[in-house]
Amino acid sequence: MKARKEFVDYGPGHPHGDHCGICRHFEAPQSCAIVAGRIARLFWCNRFERSGVMAKRGWIAKGIKHPGIEKRRAKEHGVSTHEQLETDSHSSNPTLRARGALGLRFEKGGDLHKARADRRYRRKS
Ligand code: SF4
Repeated sequence: MKARKEFVDYGPGHPHGDHCGICRHFEAPQSCAIVAGRIARLFWCNRFERSGVMAKRGWIAKGIKHPGIEKRRAKEHGVSTHEQLETDSHSSNPTLRARGALGLRFEKGGDLHKARADRRYRRKS
């Protein structure tokens, strides 16, 4: 049985930017697995739990400590950014290897690039 909104502090407050749209219980377009009634994406309740997808995004953000560093390295070595990423993704240095691999995923055609483009497209339509 789902909880009633008045018992879970459901409302427009967003502590630390949390909201239903990024909660693991949210069911698009306007419902929740554990709270009854119509649920607005930008509202929040005290049963909020961040979804796994959002947790992954946090991991990626932490992984990118020096944005643009691969581009600078490529310029220094006189190669394309893609070539630099390919080289680094096979490096024996674990930091360079991880950075290169992540960069390849964010490049045009990479899985993270496609996911980001899909999200932007969905938001516009
Ligand atoms: S924040 Fe509360 S109402 Fe919103 S989706 Fe999560 S559990 Fe449901």
